Amino acid sequence: MKRKKSASICIDCLDDEILKKRFEKYQSTECAVCGKSNSPSVKSLILAKISRKVILDYFEIYDDIYPGYNGLSLSKVVGSVIGCDNLSFCDLVSSHLIVSQDSSINDEDFFKEDQEYSKRTIPFESEEEQEEYHIARWRSVELSLTHRQRYFNDDAEQFFKMLFEVIADATHPTLLNGPIPAIIKKHKAGLELYRARSFKNREEMEKIFTNPNEELGAPPKEVSQNNRMNSMGIPLFYSSLEINTCIAEIRPSIGDDIAVGKFKITKDLKFLDFCGLDLPLSLSKDSYFRDDYRTRSYFRAFLSYLHNVISQPVRPDGTGYVVTQAMAEYLRYKHEEKFDGIIFKSVQAEKGVNYVIFNELATVCEMQTPNWRPSFPVEFVDKKPLIYKVGSIKYEYNQKSA
Ligand SMILES: [Zn+2]
Repeated sequence: MKRKKSASICIDCLDDEILKKRFEKYQSTECAVCGKSNSPSVKSLILAKISRKVILDYFEIYDDIYPGYNGLSLSKVVGSVIGCDNLSFCDLVSSHLIVSQDSSINDEDFFKEDQEYSKRTIPFESEEEQEEYHIARWRSVELSLTHRQRYFNDDAEQFFKMLFEVIADATHPTLLNGPIPAIIKKHKAGLELYRARSFKNREEMEKIFTNPNEELGAPPKEVSQNNRMNSMGIPLFYSSLEINTCIAEIRPSIGDDIAVGKFKITKDLKFLDFCGLDLPLSLSKDSYFRDDYRTRSYFRAFLSYLHNVISQPVRPDGTGYVVTQAMAEYLRYKHEEKFDGIIFKSVQAEKGVNYVIFNELATVCEMQTPNWRPSFPVEFVDKKPLIYKVGSIKYEYNQKSA
């Protein structure tokens, strides 16, 4: 291949946040793509030089094992790395890559004319192996929080920081309004939610009927138990969108009497909705030039496992909830964007949805007053609770292979 003359491209024609920043102080010359000469620009030779290692890191020579499919040409690879869809400019950068070799990188035979490429992937033997790989970091944070360091755990904090950064970037496409955030769900005041509680005798039932707002509402701080999104002593308002879900969530026995209260939210609330992660997600282009590109890619892939991981069945009396409790606390107190609660699917009722609402923050002074109870933006709506008797419970078993 003949050595071609270098040309310049302006940063407006590069769709890559890191490259735009890196060259923003460069001088302006005529851009080979748009023809304008009023924006900082960079030479094709420089782009080839800095792209070389990135391409070696994240792409491999295409292995022609699927007949009928094609790999990517080097120009296409260059285009996706620098964020440019102008073929002749990408061809030019590719020709620089082919003609000049970098002795510090072992790239012999990698950059060649007519060679095809594909993104590097990890070869998993099975879906289980793939899942295990993608939830490994979550498991290690869980282990560390549960058995090493429960409070002030920097690793866990870093983990949740990146996780929520990546989550915030996920969108769903809409026909009319463009992409919308995948996990933000706003509800107007008035949304109806249900809470259930079992009772043992007439006396308990009368107590519930006399004061349903308190008896069926969030428990007082003294008796608040460990739960999926809160530690013991820090009550949150757990509720469900459906009556059968809220009954199933308290895991009743056959013959139990259950009182169900209908509540409505008293103001507009913004939830982080993990159900949004179950639909196909769009993620914005991530720069290959970011130092944390690999880590972010890992977190991006983890998003499709996250909802299952946070809602899987756990024995409530043990330490199984520690990691989701820490996650909820991070979201509430450390994450920049504020939410009023969390939505996630029920594991007790098929297609059921749970709503956890955070209480309105109280000062320590307020909390010191006798009988202080956290206050939640919800109120009991019906005059009377609904009463149910549990008739049957469905269990499903799958035999696990030994
Ligand atoms: Zn341009």
